[in-house]
Parts: sequence; structure tokens; C-alpha cells
Amino acid sequence: MSEIEPGGDTVFIPHDRIVALARAIFSAVGCSEKEASDIAERLSGANLRGHDSHGVIRIPRYAQWARDGVQVPNKTIEIVLDQPGFAIVDGGYGFGQSIGEQTVDIGIAKAKSQGVAVTALRNSGHLGRIGDWSERCAAANVVSIHFVNVRGSLLVAPYGGLDRRFGTSPFSAGIPVAGGEPVILDLATSTVAEGKALVALKGGKALPGDALIDRDGNLTADPVPLYGEVPEGQYPDPNNGPGALTAFGAHKGSGMNFLMEMMAGALGGSGTNGKIGEPKRRFCNGMFSFYVDASRFDGPNVSGAGSMAEEILDFTAFVKSSRPATADGEVLVPGEKERRTMAERLQTGLPLARQSWTDIVGTAEGLGVTVPE
Ligand code: NAD
Repeated sequence: MSEIEPGGDTVFIPHDRIVALARAIFSAVGCSEKEASDIAERLSGANLRGHDSHGVIRIPRYAQWARDGVQVPNKTIEIVLDQPGFAIVDGGYGFGQSIGEQTVDIGIAKAKSQGVAVTALRNSGHLGRIGDWSERCAAANVVSIHFVNVRGSLLVAPYGGLDRRFGTSPFSAGIPVAGGEPVILDLATSTVAEGKALVALKGGKALPGDALIDRDGNLTADPVPLYGEVPEGQYPDPNNGPGALTAFGAHKGSGMNFLMEMMAGALGGSGTNGKIGEPKRRFCNGMFSFYVDASRFDGPNVSGAGSMAEEILDFTAFVKSSRPATADGEVLVPGEKERRTMAERLQTGLPLARQSWTDIVGTAEGLGVTVPE
């Protein structure tokens, strides 16, 4: 899986090289060594898994956000309420790659001690690829479900509407499989994540024809209606265009998006994307998460399987045994594509549109970070 068009103006950067450069950039913006390293690993990890939209293409924007105080380095979560089975925490607009880790580690620990747990995270900086959190839980043998909203980010039109009312609010779930690879479902509730439009704008993979609507509601693959015309020397801002992203799956995805606002924004207390007559709210991710210690439920299944893993592996094989819809096609299960892409990109390096690489180098140089040849 690649969001970079084969044959386009693409550069391949070895994973360790981009990690080292990203780490140096985030150290230069004031992040601690661990935080800079976490951001570098998680952004480049998104590229490794094929999610270029949530990868290193974000470096210039994150650096700008740190300069503008939109995201704050080195924040520790504030515990708003701590109960045996759940915690409400405030991220204080810290970098999501660190705030997310601090939050899910509380959820994992509570699930290990209680069997099940809930965390409600408010006011986090951008949490990046939400599958990171499902994977972290699955590695601890914890099933997790994450409802995420993007407060202060109006990018998506609701089904049947022309005006932006939603963020791209992602949903993720992770299921550990003893002795096998975890099942990781991780998706934006928009047809494409905003970063995929950014990748397309920068010369990467083209968007599907129903990814956006223009000012008049016509479906289009053109990312420009999201960003408007970008002045020379400025970084594209998705707030500036006259069009909108579409919700995935028509009314169903639009309903899922609404649910993210209910869970992360209203129930979790991070705030939804606003109300009539009120100015746009400050940008953050809210995340409402459920955790289940799989070991408490694991055991013989009524189907005859001796364990949860056996049942999952049998079902996976059954699903994949479907005849493919196209001659060269194949049925994949959630998380499979990402693992394949990672194996490939560890060999080839991370493909980046040349313009994205130039932007990252420019960010480094602006911060006085030396970019190795
Ligand atoms: P996507 O459209 O590529 O869908 C990814 C999901 O579909 C994965 O679970 C993947 O395993 C599965 N999948 C992909 N191809 C498949 C196939 N052929 N068969 C079966 N399953 C398949 O991803 P997306 O919706 O563009 O989201 C991209 C990323 O953006 C995600 O990591 C998401 O968390 C992130 N995101 C984050 C935010 C935020 O505010 N932090 C907002 C939106 C999206």
C-alpha cells in the first residue's frame, strides 16, 4: 500500500535516516529526548505502514504548531478523575504521540487489574495514527476500542449537507491474537483522511473521485477545494478551501462520524465540534477508549475452538478463502495491508513526494538542524 504514485517525483528515504532527522527536529523545537524520539518513531511508523497521511509529511505542521503554541512539548497528562475502572485525563495540548501513550498505559494497567477499563482523554495534541494505540494495547494482550474526535477541525460535510460540520474523526480497534498478528482496524470516518488530500496536493497518490465536494457540492478528486489556492511559500491549510471532505459510506459513515463526536466530544468531555453562533473551538483530539484484558475471557469457545486465538485464526482463514473479486486480487483482514507495507518499506525506504521531503529539509534548516547528505 502506498499513497505515493509509482513513477511520480518520488524520493526513497531510509527509515532510520528519517527517524534521526525527525528526532533532531523535535529536539530543536524543545521536546525532551524521549518525546522527540516517540514523535519521530510514530510519524515514520505511520509511513512504514503505508499511512503517509499521518507520517513525516506532518513534520513541518507539527513544528509550526509547537512554535505557535498549538501543541506544547513535554506535557504530562493531568488526572481529572481516577477511579478503579476508569480515568478522565487532560492532555493539556501536549504532543499526542506522548499524551496518547501516557493515556493508554493507564487504560492497560487498569484493565490488567480490573479486567475492563475506560479512559476519556481531553485536549490532546494530534494523536497521529490511532492504530498506534490499538497496537500498543494488543501487545499487552488487551483488546481496545478508540473513539476519536478532532475538535476545532471542520473538514467534512455531513451526509446530505454542503457545509463543514465534522472533523475526520477516526475509529480504531485492536484484537490481540496469541501466537499470531493482532487484528488492527484503524480508519478515518471521512472517505479519505485529510493528510491523504495533502499527500495528493504535494504530488502523491491521487484521491478517489468521491473524496471531496467542491463549493457547489459536486464530487471531486481534486484536493484544491479543501485548501484553496496556497500562496507561494506558505504551507497548505485545510481550513482555507471552499469545499469539504465527504464522510465515508454515505449516511452510515456520516453516522459513525457523529458517534465519534458523541463519545469523545460529549461523553468524554473534550467538547464536540461546536454550536451555532460560537467561534471555532481550539484544535485538539479527544479520545474515548475501552480496554478488555483478553486473558480474562480467553478459553474454550462454543464453536469447539480451544482459545480465542484459535477461533480468530480459523475465522481469518475462512474469510481469506473467499474467491477474489478480481483476477489478481486477494481478501485481506484488518491490519494485514499495513504489515505487508512495513515489511516492504523497511527494505526500500519510505517513499516521499519530493516536495514533502523538500518541506521537511526546509523545516530542519529553519531550526538550525543539519541534514546529513
Ligand atoms: P484507510 O482508508 O487506508 O483504511 C485503513 C483500514 O482499512 C485499516 O484497518 C486497514 O487494515 C484496512 N484495509 C486497508 N486496505 C484493506 C483491504 N484491501 N482489505 C481489507 N482491509 C483493508 O485509512 P484512512 O481511513 O485513510 O485512515 C488513515 C489513518 O489516519 C489512520 O491511521 C487513522 O487513525 C488516521 N487518522 C487520524 C486522525 C487524527 O485526528 N489523529 C484523523 C483521521 C485519521
